[in-house]
Amino acid sequence: QLSLRLSRAASYVEPGDRLADIGSDHAYLPCALASNNHITFAIAGEVVEGPFQAAKNQVRRLGLTDQINVRLGDGLEVVSPEDDVTAITICGMGGSLIASILDNGFKKGHLTGKERLILQPNVGERTLREWLVDHEYTITAEEIIEENNKIYEMMVAVKDPLLKQTVTESYLMFGFHLKEEHSAIFKKKWQKELEKNRYILDSLTHSSADQTTKIQKIQAEIQKIEEVLK
Ligand code: SAM
Repeated sequence: QLSLRLSRAASYVEPGDRLADIGSDHAYLPCALASNNHITFAIAGEVVEGPFQAAKNQVRRLGLTDQINVRLGDGLEVVSPEDDVTAITICGMGGSLIASILDNGFKKGHLTGKERLILQPNVGERTLREWLVDHEYTITAEEIIEENNKIYEMMVAVKDPLLKQTVTESYLMFGFHLKEEHSAIFKKKWQKELEKNRYILDSLTHSSADQTTKIQKIQAEIQKIEEVLK
């Protein structure tokens, strides 16, 4: 049984996709998809020996060794062109780590641009959106969910010149689809961020050192959040 977070990410994997799940840990996501025959080929990539062994054990235990290849390596280096990967999932890491995995993969030719990217950053969503936009990806779907008192965002991105989106500051900061949808969880997340920023502003204004630049930055941030919560 997948967590809500992983099952929502898995829902963007299409039947017959050839999947690479990077930072797979126990390979729960590819195992769930292969167990119900949603997919017949997946790579579970891990850079750390412990989780790599855990993934291998899990795949063996479920009798999925014909469908899932567990590979030890850094990021997208475990993927080669002959794998013909059509979807990549990278979940449960910071947005800047996900962006650096994509960036290395792009620079070294492991990321072709034909794969659908299904990304679930724990933090640093903006950094990830910036990378995607800079590399001509379009974010086609986004979700915000809450599980075990934590709020998670996920996004699906594809490289398709026919799908141009206008990128604005709020697209990067809040997510175009999430802002449009304006769900209760979205409001809860940004209400919390607003409180955090107001707290920081308060301590900065009481500081003895000159904090003008930082204060201006936080004030601008607060203004943007207040605007989106209106
Ligand atoms: N994807 C799973 C999930 O969402 O539940 C596991 C998330 S776990 C918090 C992050 C995993 O990513 C760890 O097992 C870690 O070893 C792996 N990882 C971190 N950097 C990596 C990299 N550059 N390449 C491959 N795996 C990486």
